[in-house]
Amino acid sequence: MIPPRGAAPRWNGEAWRRDDARFETKLQHVHSLSEGRTFQFGKEYTKGEYEAMAKAYEERWAKERPDVDANDANALERAFWDMVETRSEQARVEYGNDLDTKIFGTGFGVDENGEKHPWDFEHLYSHPLNLLRVVEHDIPGLTKPWLYLGMLFATFCWHVEDHFLCSLNYLHRGAAKTWYGVPGSDAEAFENCARATVPRLFEQAPDILHQIVTIVPPGVLVDHGVKVVHTVQQPGEFVVTFPRAYHAGFSHGFNVAEAVNFGHVNWLDFGRRAIDVYSTGSFKRNAVFAHHRLVSRAAETFVEVLGKNARLVKSKAMGAIVSTLRKELETILSDEEIYRASLVRRGLNIEIVQAPNEDDDACCIRCKAMPFLSVVRCKCLPTAVRCLRHAMDACDCAAGERTLEIRVVDSRLRELIKALFFGDGIQTKDDAAKARVDFSANVNRVAVNRAPPPKPKVVLPKPKTVKPPPTRAVLASPPPARIVASKADDAFTARGLPRKRAKCETRRRWTAEMVADFEVAVERLGGVDAATGKKLAEALSAHDVTRDQCASRLQKHREKIKSNADARATL
Ligand SMILES: [Zn+2]
Ligand SMILES: [Zn+2]
Repeated sequence: MIPPRGAAPRWNGEAWRRDDARFETKLQHVHSLSEGRTFQFGKEYTKGEYEAMAKAYEERWAKERPDVDANDANALERAFWDMVETRSEQARVEYGNDLDTKIFGTGFGVDENGEKHPWDFEHLYSHPLNLLRVVEHDIPGLTKPWLYLGMLFATFCWHVEDHFLCSLNYLHRGAAKTWYGVPGSDAEAFENCARATVPRLFEQAPDILHQIVTIVPPGVLVDHGVKVVHTVQQPGEFVVTFPRAYHAGFSHGFNVAEAVNFGHVNWLDFGRRAIDVYSTGSFKRNAVFAHHRLVSRAAETFVEVLGKNARLVKSKAMGAIVSTLRKELETILSDEEIYRASLVRRGLNIEIVQAPNEDDDACCIRCKAMPFLSVVRCKCLPTAVRCLRHAMDACDCAAGERTLEIRVVDSRLRELIKALFFGDGIQTKDDAAKARVDFSANVNRVAVNRAPPPKPKVVLPKPKTVKPPPTRAVLASPPPARIVASKADDAFTARGLPRKRAKCETRRRWTAEMVADFEVAVERLGGVDAATGKKLAEALSAHDVTRDQCASRLQKHREKIKSNADARATL
């Protein structure tokens, strides 16, 4: 997207000049990008130090290759692929990706009145049509923007967004970026081609594409009949990627970009298919939020909005959203009913329980999906949850040892679906009034559901009373691909190389003891500015925490110290 000249927001120079925080880069050997090796960590920099390093590298490279005009995107593109495909030249570059804007600052400046510019990603996040806004906890890069510092040939390898979400990338300043994109309709063709091209890599690591460390030349994809598009993004321009659109690319020199995910209602169907892929496909990947929680919460929110302003449903846009949400809920309900009934027939116990807090959503012990509406536990390991698809997996215990825990009852889902019918259906004043009444009943119930745990575990009547499951055999197979608007084919976006840490990796939770040791280690290392994720992981090796975990804890620690200092300053 190329906005009109003069429309761009001010560059946030204040945040850029605040150059106290350090980050670790990813070290990339450009000449061996097609080998799919995991990137090592590079050096540590502040933003200013990174800029100086990147610019010095560009100058050196320009001297070594006087034959390439660094301002000619086509010439740089040829040089890049020569390196990747022929290894004629070697290049080691560092990418400053996935930097939390809360720590490193957003690139979007405010106007003279201190107001955020309309393009500021904060606005996108809170936009009524962005379904991700109902995800209550912060997931950096997903619900919160990330900053990316690039240099000549710094590369983002082929990937799709988590949960097949859309993404928006803005290039604040610096050199251009070359992008390649594959429309969502060709996602499977892309995966098959990647598998065929580098079979050895896929054997070693079936999730290679999700590690974002491999680059298949676009020419090879085109030869295999995969549709690939290409663009060069200049500063001040946006790139949008649509659901399940694979994308990759590289920078032409030092630059600063910012990116965030979003979920338009048209994404919902892809979001559900992503979950299916996570739980059944060969591309194993962790869910980072519970899709069903998002859908039911979005439905509640829309029911609430419609209840307050019944006229809204006359709007075509709102009607379309509401009907899409309703259909999504109907599909979810139908799947749930089939699974629940089948498990009851197999003799599992049933309990109706309070839904946990969002932070406590856990992945299935067997697959990478994050079930929400109901889960199965077994007495042999009560802390582990199973999705309904894997209810009988992971141990040999009998069905009677297992319990189906229902967090949202069918009737509640049906109520929501009914309330969303008003989206298409309100014709008369009486209908509207009825909608409001039904809606308030729903909201009250929502409020009750969210009240502090009343905890009595209701045991449902005997299994026999559950109606037999409808015969539907296509539970696991995703619906046929629905191709998004053709404009999607020309749109793709930036996202860094290493994945943000998926929520469900088996990693240690921070206990009070670990936190105490962490704080001591920070002090020993010379305070929050001197400490790094790497050094902390070494210092805390007895606790078996990862470098990423330490880095993220360190960021939080810095924020806490900063906000304490701010609070003291205002006193
Ligand atoms: Zn599962
Ligand atoms: Zn068991």
